[in-house]
Amino acid sequence: MASASIQYKTEEEIDLIRTSAHLLARAHGEVATLIKEGVTTCQLDQRAEEFIRDNGGIPSFKGYNKFPFSLCLSPNSVVVHGFATDVPLQSGDIISVDCGVFLNGYHADSAYTYPIGDVHPDVLLLLKETKASLYKGIEKAVSGNRVGDISYAIQNHVSPLGYGVVRELVGHGVGAKLHEKPEVPNYGKRGSGPILQTGLVLAIEPMVNLGRKDVVQEADGWTIRTKDRKPSAHFEHTVVVRKDKAEILTSFEYIEKALQ
Ligand code: MG
Ligand code: MG
Repeated sequence: MASASIQYKTEEEIDLIRTSAHLLARAHGEVATLIKEGVTTCQLDQRAEEFIRDNGGIPSFKGYNKFPFSLCLSPNSVVVHGFATDVPLQSGDIISVDCGVFLNGYHADSAYTYPIGDVHPDVLLLLKETKASLYKGIEKAVSGNRVGDISYAIQNHVSPLGYGVVRELVGHGVGAKLHEKPEVPNYGKRGSGPILQTGLVLAIEPMVNLGRKDVVQEADGWTIRTKDRKPSAHFEHTVVVRKDKAEILTSFEYIEKALQ
C-alpha cells in the first residue's frame, strides 16, 4: 500500500463522516433486533446490507480486498474478520458484529460483541471489560496526547484482568479510505507514537482475548482466531480527536435500545 501521511479532517469532512456514522449506528441497531438463538450470521449480513443500501449507503467491507460480506461476523474464538455462515447462533455463544458504511465519500467503522442466551460469567465479564477499555482509550483521544496514550489506556485496563491483548490487528485512521494512518494499537507506551491533533478521525477497536494474546489466521485468508481457542471480544467506535474530549461519531444507542 502506498504510504500516505496522516489526514486531518475539516469540519465539513467530519460532518460527512458523522452522517456515515449515523447510518452505521442505525444499521447496527437493525442487526441487533435480529440477534438471538437460532439466527444465522448470513441472515444478519443480509439485513445489514439491505438496510445500508436502502438508506443510500454502501457497505464498506463488501469487496474490500475481496472480502465477501457486508459484516465481519466473529463468533466465540474468532477475533475478527469472520465470514457469515448458515450455522445458527446458540445459547452460550458470543458474536462480534463489525460493520462499515461508506456514504458521501466517507467511511465510518464500528463493532459490538453480543452474548447469546446463557453465556458463562467469565465471558460476560470479558465483554464488559473490553467495552470499558474502548471508552478508556477514547478518553485519551484528545489533542496534545499521542497514539500511545490511547494504546496504553486500553492495555492498562484489560491486561491486569489477565486478558490477552491482540497485537496483530489494530485500530486506524478513517476517512475517504476505510483504513488510514495512523495505526492505533491496543497495547503500547504512554507518550509514544504520533501526536494527536484536532480533526484526526480514528477507529479505536480493542480486540481482547479471554486467554492468551496469540492468534492464527484460517485457511480462508481472513478469519482470525485465538490460538488457544478461548473467546475473544471486540468493540469499536469511530471518534474525532478534539481539544478537551473526543467526539464519538458512531453510537451503540440503537443497539442498546434493541437489546432492552
Ligand atoms: Mg470495524
Ligand atoms: Mg476498524
